[in-house]
Formats: sequence, C-alpha cells, structure tokens
Amino acid sequence: MAEVCDRVTERVNLFLDRELDEAEADEIRRHIMECEHCSDELDVWLLIRHLVKRAYRPDTAPVALLRRITQQIHQAHQAEQGSADEASETGTPPAGPAEAQTVSL
Ligand SMILES: [Zn+2]
Repeated sequence: MAEVCDRVTERVNLFLDRELDEAEADEIRRHIMECEHCSDELDVWLLIRHLVKRAYRPDTAPVALLRRITQQIHQAHQAEQGSADEASETGTPPAGPAEAQTVSL
C-alpha cells in the first residue's frame, strides 16, 4: 500500500467531518478520485456513519417514543370514558394502562 493511502485512510474521518484545511481536503479528494482502495475506504466509512446515525437517531427517537406513550395514555383515557367499543370497531385494539407503564424505559 502506498504511503499516501495510509495518510488518506488515517484522515478519512476528519475529511468527512470537514475538519481538514482546504489543502489537505483537496489532496484526499484528488487521491480518492484515482485510488480504488481509498475510494472503497471512503464508501465503507460513509456506510458506517450512515448506519450509526440511523441506529441512534438522537433527535427522532424520543419524539416517537413520546408520541407512542401519549397515544397509549389517550387510548387508555378513551377506554375509561367508555368509548372502547368505538375504538375496537375501527380496528385499533385499545392499549391497556399496564402496557403504557412498561414503556417508561
Ligand atoms: Zn489510496
């Protein structure tokens, strides 16, 4: 493996984070265009970063969880008010209050 490949591999994450100065970023960009190995390396890192981002979803997970809990509380509330029969007619099974409590994690 060429020495320049080592350098590119080492800095590919900095490159993706845009933490390199223009000259260094340019060198890596140019090298990736002509080196299959480093181009593959960049692809792999892009995939990893994409998967990590999707796995954590720092901004969407709490909202989805909150929505689910709110929905279950709402459904439990509806059941209390005696509209559970309406809910079962529309095909949505009423969620029990016990189930809502287990979601707190
Ligand atoms: Zn290379």
